Amino acid sequence: MPSSLRLPGAPFVARRGDALYLEDCRLSDLAHEYGTPLYVYSRSAMRASLAEYADALAGRRHLVCYAMKANSSLAVLQTFAQAGCGFDIVSGGELERVLAIGVEGARIVFSGVGKTRAEMRRALEIGVRCFNVESEAELEVLSEVAQQCGRIAPVSLRVNPDVDAGTHPYISTGLKGNKFGIAHDRALAAYRRATELPSLRVAGIDCHIGSQITELSPYLDALDRLLDLVEAIEQAGIPVHHVDVGGGLGISYKDETPPPAGELVRRVLERMDARGHGERELVMEPGRSLVGNAGVLLTEALYLKPGEQKNFCIVDAAMNDLMRPAMYEAWMDIVACEQRHGLPQSYDVVGPVCESGDWLGRDRLLSVQAGDMLAVLSAGAYGMAMASNYNTRPRAAEVMVEGDRHWLIRERETHADLFRHEHLLPR
Ligand SMILES: *Cc1c(COP(=O)(O)O)cnc(C)c1O
Repeated sequence: MPSSLRLPGAPFVARRGDALYLEDCRLSDLAHEYGTPLYVYSRSAMRASLAEYADALAGRRHLVCYAMKANSSLAVLQTFAQAGCGFDIVSGGELERVLAIGVEGARIVFSGVGKTRAEMRRALEIGVRCFNVESEAELEVLSEVAQQCGRIAPVSLRVNPDVDAGTHPYISTGLKGNKFGIAHDRALAAYRRATELPSLRVAGIDCHIGSQITELSPYLDALDRLLDLVEAIEQAGIPVHHVDVGGGLGISYKDETPPPAGELVRRVLERMDARGHGERELVMEPGRSLVGNAGVLLTEALYLKPGEQKNFCIVDAAMNDLMRPAMYEAWMDIVACEQRHGLPQSYDVVGPVCESGDWLGRDRLLSVQAGDMLAVLSAGAYGMAMASNYNTRPRAAEVMVEGDRHWLIRERETHADLFRHEHLLPR
């Protein structure tokens, strides 16, 4: 076998000779077999990223809850469930997904600023482990719903610690101006209220300060703010069982150097120990860092369009398949599945959707011809999960690989699927 060159940031992607592989699967073969656009995920990569959290947490009271909004495909959830992972959900739809793969309520925490009464009812019925409550108004409604169902709702209040996660404004969630969580200085009063309300039981405290975080310090600052509150709340006679520090750990898309998950865990545990909270259960809600680098999006180059100012490489994947570049101006690496040896040229890699914002990469050096397959790297998180049918485009298929084996885990949507639920008006 030719020597293998690992690509930075995506350790399960490697170039062997001219060919790009995910584990032992040649990506151009998968693109031809299943068609494009195609998401491909490495099961081993997902297991390895979860193991990094789990190993560092071994021997401590803990639960890792995969924030499934990052990638909610059933086979992905199954991979994590089999490894003993819990789940962080943000909607009734996500709840039904985890229930569909046989996860029990005790491994599910329910986050989100806008839970409906129906969602609360269903979550109570299946015995969800904890509601991460995001406002004082939600506390009142949850208590009412729980009382109607004859259940006790376990609650944790999501506190906004007012720390700057140093990330993109759209994915920063722990600052005062955000819609998320309960203000730090209102939290104690909210806990008091929770104990007055019938049908609620205080279980813990949580925060989630943002996404694609590449520094440790915002986590430690947020943890300190949470532990200050825990101490105040317990002094007021309200026991707080667990501390949930949320998710948000970044991955390497280009040259970012986030701390490894194990390092984050160790530093968090160290700080808890130092403050005398070593016995408290630690909950974490990683999303992106469990799946981001495990996936690639394969796409075929349809046309090369040279221009005066720019050359365009028009591909068959678009913003509806992968929203991150259009939505956050995110940079994601784009490489050829089979390397050519011609002189590379600079291209904007764009999709077929009728929007100037429909691009996957700008000013990329590529040696490419029409018909070539390209891979967008680190596309395992917030890729397929954010896909839409804009321009009446069917959503992509998904494949899971492990070693040299591969499985279709989601069929490509058909055109008939796209208007199956629509009705014409009476004539
Ligand atoms: C999105 C989200 C997460 C996961 O964030 P990542 O950046 O993907 O790790 C965790 N907790 C909550 C409440 C979230 O909304």
